[in-house]
Amino acid sequence: MKIKDIHTHVLPQEPGTALVCIGCGPMPKAQGHLFSAGLHPWDVTGHDQEAYDNLEKLLSLPNVLAVGECGFDTLRGPSHELQEQAFVRQYELSEQFKKPMILHVVRDFDTVIRLHKQLHPTMPWLIHGFRGAPQQMHQLHSQNLLLSLGPNCNPQSLHQLPPDKLFLETDTHPSFAQILNYACTVRSIPPDDLEQQLVKNTTRFLLE
Ligand SMILES: [Zn+2]
Repeated sequence: MKIKDIHTHVLPQEPGTALVCIGCGPMPKAQGHLFSAGLHPWDVTGHDQEAYDNLEKLLSLPNVLAVGECGFDTLRGPSHELQEQAFVRQYELSEQFKKPMILHVVRDFDTVIRLHKQLHPTMPWLIHGFRGAPQQMHQLHSQNLLLSLGPNCNPQSLHQLPPDKLFLETDTHPSFAQILNYACTVRSIPPDDLEQQLVKNTTRFLLE
């Protein structure tokens, strides 16, 4: 497993180098790819049994390595109560299948911090697409939450990320190389070293 891109919606050219989010399915037929599966907060309706049934099937497969993206969005999707129910249901799946979580969080970090303290997950939680400033980044890290940064991240946060907590993503952006090069410039580190660090971190996140 050599995952560098921890969150994308596009199959990478080289299978196994990115964790591809497929929602609640179906799984693409292409061989050799690695996936995460989850019910996005925008798609929660409160009548989601079919989605959870699909998720259970997907999560039992060896090439589905994480639950997500799931989480909280105060700007879009159903009520906070429904979003929280859906999140807790998926947290239970994460613990049951021993697969970590990838979170979509828009303006609701407090809820994630509260639930992380309340639920004491044994599997790691990673908030994708983090755009906040270093202070918020350090605060979330201190709560044992992981973050991945993409094309629209705060360059100071990218610069200050501890090496063992560095995760990069493309999400819907087409080019991982572009993000990798940007991170190399901001952190003054050669691409090979950065890629090695990324693979080390994603392997630890997904398989420990
Ligand atoms: Zn996404």
